[in-house]
Amino acid sequence: MAKVLDSKIPAGPVPEKWKEYKAHQRLVNPKNKLKLDVIVVGTGLAGASAAASLAEMGFNVYNFCIQDSPRRAHSIAAQGGINAAKNYQNDGDSVYRLFYDTVKGGDYRAREANVYRLAEVSNNIIDQCVAQGVPFAREYGGMLANRSFGGAQVSRTFYAKGQTGQQLLLGAYSSLSKEVQRGKVKLFTRYEMEDVVIVDGRARGIIAKNLVTGKLERFSANAVVIATGGYGNAYFLSTNAMGCNCTAAIQCYRKGAMMANPSYVQIHPTCIPVHGDKQSKLTLMSESLRNDGRIWVPKKLEDAKALQADTKQGYEIPEEDRDYYLERRYPAFGNLVPRDVASRAAKERCDKGFGVNNTGLAVFLDFSESIQRLGIDEIRQRYGNLFDMYEEITDVNPGEKACTKNGVDYYYPMMIFPAIHYTMGGVWVDYELQTTIPGLFAIGECNFSDHGANRLGASALMQGLADGYFVLPYTIQNYLADQAIWPRLSTDMPEFAETEKAVAAEIDRLMNIKGKRSVDSIHKELGHIMWEHVGMGRTKEGLEEGLKLLKNLRKEFDTNLFIPGSKEGLNVELDKAIHLRDFILMGELVAYDALHREESCGGHFREEHQTEEGEAKRDDENFFYVGCWDYQGSDDKAPELIKEPLNYEIIKVQTRNYKN
Ligand SMILES: Cc1cc2nc3c(=O)[nH]c(=O)nc-3n(C[C@H](O)[C@H](O)[C@H](O)COP(=O)(O)OP(=O)(O)OC[C@H]3O[C@@H](n4cnc5c(N)ncnc54)[C@H](O)[C@@H]3O)c2cc1C
Repeated sequence: MAKVLDSKIPAGPVPEKWKEYKAHQRLVNPKNKLKLDVIVVGTGLAGASAAASLAEMGFNVYNFCIQDSPRRAHSIAAQGGINAAKNYQNDGDSVYRLFYDTVKGGDYRAREANVYRLAEVSNNIIDQCVAQGVPFAREYGGMLANRSFGGAQVSRTFYAKGQTGQQLLLGAYSSLSKEVQRGKVKLFTRYEMEDVVIVDGRARGIIAKNLVTGKLERFSANAVVIATGGYGNAYFLSTNAMGCNCTAAIQCYRKGAMMANPSYVQIHPTCIPVHGDKQSKLTLMSESLRNDGRIWVPKKLEDAKALQADTKQGYEIPEEDRDYYLERRYPAFGNLVPRDVASRAAKERCDKGFGVNNTGLAVFLDFSESIQRLGIDEIRQRYGNLFDMYEEITDVNPGEKACTKNGVDYYYPMMIFPAIHYTMGGVWVDYELQTTIPGLFAIGECNFSDHGANRLGASALMQGLADGYFVLPYTIQNYLADQAIWPRLSTDMPEFAETEKAVAAEIDRLMNIKGKRSVDSIHKELGHIMWEHVGMGRTKEGLEEGLKLLKNLRKEFDTNLFIPGSKEGLNVELDKAIHLRDFILMGELVAYDALHREESCGGHFREEHQTEEGEAKRDDENFFYVGCWDYQGSDDKAPELIKEPLNYEIIKVQTRNYKN
């Protein structure tokens, strides 16, 4: 019989559910908290905030990360900002509007109850971070400043220049450090979780590899929380940090945690275009730039051809010959349409031959108008570090005047193109953020989260911190309430020994393949397959072909991989090989999910399912559910699809409209 998923959404009206839940959940008394251990894997915004909060509450926390410091988690790279419904601008924002924009932005594929809770706690996050001393940008009078991000007509994004993630992470890290100092958090840096240990059907510990010595170690606890980030690097080239990986999530999947909506992958419209085949990383240009930057391509094909041939420069094309295609197609939201819409529109223009660089795969992001309106000082104040970053990489300064024609100043435009950026899919969790394995929780980007089929800009930081500071600390107690009666589990138990043995055997298997191909060469091939067949535009034939290629690539990995060095001590290639093994399986999951979902929604665009105007065409009658994939005991077997039906109580499901 097919498994049935219980999302545990509380009864009652949507706006009351979270209050009701908190009023009736089970609690752990202060003495019992001292007896309970929680493992938190990850020190990004989700993991650090959860670890600090749980420790502050009295639990004993073991916190792991692969970097040498929690501060180097990928969250530090977040640039643009974090959303909250404070309505400081008095522009009509509210908890309901943030909730509504998020559900609509996600193309009506997120859970209503979760998103409402997210919008509700968003304001607490800002208060919490301000109390920690996070230096959010302020107006002259002292009020916190806001800017706009895609999919919203209000300004609700709080920011610290283009370094919001860094400042938020320093805030969370300071709270974490206080708990480390108090002895309530024990920190394990440069440790990688390789597997979860299941005892009597519950998550009761992990096996982690000390990345410096290469030794495997066992850790037991009453609950395990993974906060290990997204799987964007399955595409090889992405805006994610090089170390981002999905090994912990995939290993939990192999042990019975279902994976939800893996095909919902976000392709961000404003990244520096690929410039050669030796690249291993792409750079994001924050969405905040779309507040003041205008996106365009030439109206005339001959101009595009001249740009591609480098016989003309962008600034030489006069205003009347520029096609501000987002403003033209979506007058109500203009350059601030959601990311999936903006990315597809860029692809559409480039597919038609209007691309502006030598590969034909770029569009312009131009600040000429806003610099004239606001002055360069104001623009630099808002985006200075992003301009510097762009110049450092491309040698073009978008704040530099290129020429003046007919009294109009033209500045050097940035070139941008869509790239893999964020993964909405991930480990399935119920309302309590618990996976299908009791005692195993998933938070932050690694869970399938609250963003549906498309995440709005500045909402990932909101979700990660909501999970860590304000949701998990409540919901985990509901699970832990009756756990204090159990004695601490010894790591000598057979379940720990067997799991460690399996991890060790797997490492030996990888080391002994002794083939001819480097990890990176196979990873790059994986990226090509994913981008070509499981990328921005997907088709049935392409996905079937992609799945075949992925299976062949797995065979290639299993028979022709070469890892230099030994398993003892530090071996970065071995660690990358483990990650790659899991990226390949994750890639297959993305393809399976994309193939079965015969509709287009948000970031998942099936070319067979589009409107005459090229917009995503949903099929609510047949696909109004969360697609969850259940592992069938072997990487070789196709996963089984389990559906969690969605149920909307207050939002009317309709076609997304950003035109009027
Ligand atoms: C360039 C860029 C800019 C962005 N800007 C914004 C923005 O402005 N606003 C916004 O809302 N979002 C933004 N995002 C998205 C946002 O940054 C991420 O979604 C978010 O930071 C993820 O946080 P996290 O805590 O879930 O995971 P991460 O920050 O990725 O942290 C993962 C943690 O898990 C640890 N880990 C991973 N695997 C293991 C393992 N097996 N064992 C032990 N530890 C492990 C890592 O060491 C790390 O500590 C941006 C993303 C990118 C790529």
